[in-house]
Amino acid sequence: MNYNHQNVFAKILRGEITSQKIYEDEEVLAFNDISQASKIHVLVIPKGHYQNYLDFVSNASENQVANFFKKVSMIVKMLKLDESGFRLIANNGDDAHQTVEHFHVHLLGGQKLGPLLTSDNKLR
Ligand code: 5GP
Repeated sequence: MNYNHQNVFAKILRGEITSQKIYEDEEVLAFNDISQASKIHVLVIPKGHYQNYLDFVSNASENQVANFFKKVSMIVKMLKLDESGFRLIANNGDDAHQTVEHFHVHLLGGQKLGPLLTSDNKLR
């Protein structure tokens, strides 16, 4: 895959753009989405250069993939969303409207989120 090092999240990882960090370690960064779609809207990204979900799961090691999703769960608990509930979204590619080509998971919660798709983009 052709990872573009000028994407916004690569710039955040290099510290060229600031972000409101929620959690960081050697493998993962979690920060608030600049455009909050719910009361809690955090983006979780691996520090490795993967363009999307498929690239990450295909090309990262099994350990990296497992650790990433375990850390997402840890962040869920850190934000106390485990009892109230939450939604995870990974947009992959054009049809999913992926706008930043560095693999990321949206973690949404802190309120009732309603159905998955709005009336505008309901599957017919
Ligand atoms: P996607 O549509 O690719 O799944 O989600 C990309 C997300 O990145 C969007 O929800 C958008 O609001 C967020 N985003 C874009 N630019 C920035 C930025 O500079 N800082 C932060 N914190 N989030 C950003």
